[in-house]
Formats: sequence, C-alpha cells, structure tokens
Amino acid sequence: MINVAETCVGTRALGPGLRSVVWVQGCPFRCRGCIAPDWIPFREARAVAPDELAGELLADPDVTGLTLSGGEPMAQASGLAAMVRAARAGRELSVICFTGFRREELAGRPDAQALLAEVDVLIDGRYVRSRNDDRGLRGSGNQRVHHLTGRLATAAGELADGPRRAEVRVRGGEALLVGVPPRALAEAFTTSDEEPR
Ligand code: SF4
Repeated sequence: MINVAETCVGTRALGPGLRSVVWVQGCPFRCRGCIAPDWIPFREARAVAPDELAGELLADPDVTGLTLSGGEPMAQASGLAAMVRAARAGRELSVICFTGFRREELAGRPDAQALLAEVDVLIDGRYVRSRNDDRGLRGSGNQRVHHLTGRLATAAGELADGPRRAEVRVRGGEALLVGVPPRALAEAFTTSDEEPR
C-alpha cells in the first residue's frame, strides 16, 4: 500500500503536458521553507493499493504524464514503482519524480533503483530556501534535473529554467497548492522553519 497525502488529476503546473500528481506522506528531511510541512511527518494518511492509485491518477483520459512528489517518494519507492508499472500497462506516460535525496545517495538501495527504472526525469536534492532562484521545476538552484531517459528531452529547458506555474485548488474549504510556486508565493505558504539536514 502507498501512504498518500494528496493527489491531483490533470494539471499543467508540474511538468510538460497534462499530468496527474501524487504526493506521498512522510519525509525524512526537514528542509527550511518546505512548501509541504504537513506532509513531512510519517503518519497514516490514505492507504491506497498501487493499481488503485494508478486508476485514480488516470481518471482523465487526456493525462499523458505522472509526477511523483511528497513527502519523500523514495520512502515509498516499491509501491510507487508498482503504481507506475500498472499505469503504463494501459497508457504511454512520462514520469517525473522529485526526491530530497541526491541521486548518489540512492545507490545500493534496490527499492529506489526499481523506482528510478520507471522514472524519466529525476529532480534531486534537499530544498535550500536561500538558493530559490525562481527558475524551473526545481525548487532551488542546488537541485539537479536528471534526464534518465530521452522521453522528456525536448522539455529540458522548461524543466531546468522555464517559468514557474502554480495552481491553487480549493477543496472543501482547504487550499491545495499545485506546482513549484514563484518564490514570493512559496514564502506565503511556508510554515516549516527547520534547518536542512
Ligand atoms: S522540501 Fe525537503 S522536507 Fe519538504 S518534502 Fe521536500 S525533501 Fe522533504
């Protein structure tokens, strides 16, 4: 089962084309200025089976990509890898994954490697608020955009340096911020004030 904090079906704010997003619950890092502090604690949120989550994310037939975020996707790598495989059984999809780990830190972890085998673009590294340069899909300049396949090669410029987009979706009186927001908006949403580890 995957411990899901939130999902969003059909957004243009987190990568090329129309994408669906899953944010998982729980992250071992506490980056100062994290945009999603509610999703840092390792607590039970919504437990969803991989194939069920795949179906949920593909509810819109026009979705052509998945974005995995959190929380920390590598903390639930096996479940997410199974989810992506299930989703791709029925549709050609590109996959973008955020992680607070640097790619080198994932060496020797079979679960992480299984997920990386399904990922086209990996955006890695902790978020460093002082290095938020308002560019691209990475949150701060120290984070790197790795093209693990050629599937999103034509979007390399957009991913690394393009303008940021953010959507605010209101659900049941709560606001969900979708996207890597411009710095000023990120500061407005931020409540985590811990130093990075
Ligand atoms: S910004 Fe840091 S603390 Fe927040 S989810 Fe990402 S890695 Fe975890």
